[in-house]
Amino acid sequence: MSAHSSNSVRAYRGKLLHFLADPGDGHDEHAVQFFEDGLLVIEDGHVKAAGRAADLLPALGKDVELVDYSSRLLLPGFVDTHVHYPQTDVIASYGTQLLDWLDRYTYPEEGRFEDAAHAAEVADFFLDELLRNGTTTALVFGTVHAHSVDVFFEHALARNLRMVAGKVLMDRNCPESLRDDPATGYRESAALIEKWQGRGRLGYAITPRFAVTSSDAQLELAGQLAREYPETHIHSHIAENQREVERVRELFPWSRSYLAVYERFGLLRERAVYAHCIHLDALDRTRMAETRTAAAVCPTSNLFLGSGLFDFPAARAAGMRVGLGTDVGGGTSFSLLRTMSEAYKVAQLAGYGLSPWRAFYLATLGGARALALDDRIGNFEPGKEADFLVLRLDSTALIARRLRAATTPAEMLFALMMLGDDREIAATYVMGRLAHRGEPALPALR
Ligand SMILES: [Zn+2]
Repeated sequence: MSAHSSNSVRAYRGKLLHFLADPGDGHDEHAVQFFEDGLLVIEDGHVKAAGRAADLLPALGKDVELVDYSSRLLLPGFVDTHVHYPQTDVIASYGTQLLDWLDRYTYPEEGRFEDAAHAAEVADFFLDELLRNGTTTALVFGTVHAHSVDVFFEHALARNLRMVAGKVLMDRNCPESLRDDPATGYRESAALIEKWQGRGRLGYAITPRFAVTSSDAQLELAGQLAREYPETHIHSHIAENQREVERVRELFPWSRSYLAVYERFGLLRERAVYAHCIHLDALDRTRMAETRTAAAVCPTSNLFLGSGLFDFPAARAAGMRVGLGTDVGGGTSFSLLRTMSEAYKVAQLAGYGLSPWRAFYLATLGGARALALDDRIGNFEPGKEADFLVLRLDSTALIARRLRAATTPAEMLFALMMLGDDREIAATYVMGRLAHRGEPALPALR
């Protein structure tokens, strides 16, 4: 490390975990890197090196600032592959399943986003809440209002966050006040793409809510946008709830399956992400894998709304890209730790396991791969953008006590994902800069 560059270099010492590939159920050293005494070296907002402290410390320049997190765990920033910022205020709304939940809670709430000032206030809170939970990248629904995306991106840009979001396309089977029409939806989406795609760290997602609320004409134009702007994401829902699946069958009687509707309109490709993917068949899973379309798995939402259980083994056997989503407000927590915990319970109900290695992979590199952003984020390979978080390991008396009894890294990680929440987040860093601190500042080591 040259003396010349050391002013912009900073190093963080602590336990360190990141992934190079899907670890499956085991701790394969080609997939998992865990260092009990690790060092993360950041230069100009990017990862310069990550490894054993004993290997990296001697090469560190004398004037490099070294931050001591040695009783903490460093992780790449969490990636939330499916969440609705306009539903922040309807989280924990009682007693309905999907279609009634939309009518009773979600649509009235999204109606309030007609007011751009309200949208901006919620976007600001939402982004702070993500950082409080260690989430540094998310794929985010707006509302039908184009300004819902403008204000969201303005706040994300101010925080220098890597965020992907889009305006909802919705022209039928919803309240009149929340409808666009195919031409308007197309025009507003194209204008938002021109304005925001690639600005700062932002990306646009073409966002038909789901097949139920878009006409054939609107889905056709969504597919046209996806062809005209191949660098964008596509973001929607699929096969969440049985009544929803039946409704799609009625609305698209010609289609072999729900997924085949989206395929017919050119909406399966890399950077296309579909939330839920519960009620799919084997051919659907194969088509998702072949087209590099990803699934956002949302266990807190699927349990809360009584939707069903995602089939992790079938998805893995098919070779599907999978990430975790909180799906707030159908989901019940912004925390990826809480989401991992519920994913484990979903797996248990279906008679298999979800190893802590794979759970932490899904919340980091797996999510980045689902979003096809793994060339920039998701782990600590040199050159990656330095979005990372620090877990306390002692945020509650119970966690501190349970971890004292843990004898292996896997046991520690499993206890953290089962017992942890936003209180575990000691700090969240964005491009190497502190963006949230959840505990009092620790002194620099030297
Ligand atoms: Zn959703």
